[in-house]
Amino acid sequence: MTSAGQIIVDKTIADRAAGFINEAVENGWKGNINYSFRTRREQQIEWDRAGHDRNKAAEPGTGEHEGGFAFDLAFCSQSKSEQDAVVKAAKDFGFKQNVAGEPWHFSTDPSRDQLHHAIRIAEDAVDLFGGKSQLPSCSAFVQLSN
Ligand SMILES: [Zn+2]
Repeated sequence: MTSAGQIIVDKTIADRAAGFINEAVENGWKGNINYSFRTRREQQIEWDRAGHDRNKAAEPGTGEHEGGFAFDLAFCSQSKSEQDAVVKAAKDFGFKQNVAGEPWHFSTDPSRDQLHHAIRIAEDAVDLFGGKSQLPSCSAFVQLSN
C-alpha cells in the first residue's frame, strides 16, 4: 500500500483531482505529490526566491496553487511510462500542464475570476482556521493503492 500524498484543492475540483491521481497511480505512476495548496505567505516566499520574476513564480495573489487549482507532481524524475500515465490521467480529468518549463505543474486552468474568488476564500479559511495545517479535510484526500 502506497500513499501518493495528501492534497488540498478547491472543493469544486476535489473529485476530478482524486480521479486524476487515482488513475495515474493505477496506471503505474509511483511518484509523490510535492505541492498542492499554497498560502499567500508561502507564495510570497516562492516569489521572493524567484527574484520577483513572473517567469519563475506567480505573484502572490495570482497563483493557481493559492486558489487550490494546481498541484506539482514528481514528474521529471519518473520513468517515461510513468510520465505517460500521468499525462493520460491528466487529460482524462481535464488537467493541463499550463506553465511553460514546469511539466510537473498540473492545473484545471481556472479563469481569472474563478481564481481570484477562490484565493479570497482560501485566505479567509486559512485565517479562520488558524493556519493551513488546520484546514478541514473535506477537500483533501490520501491516495492508497498498489
Ligand atoms: Zn505548480
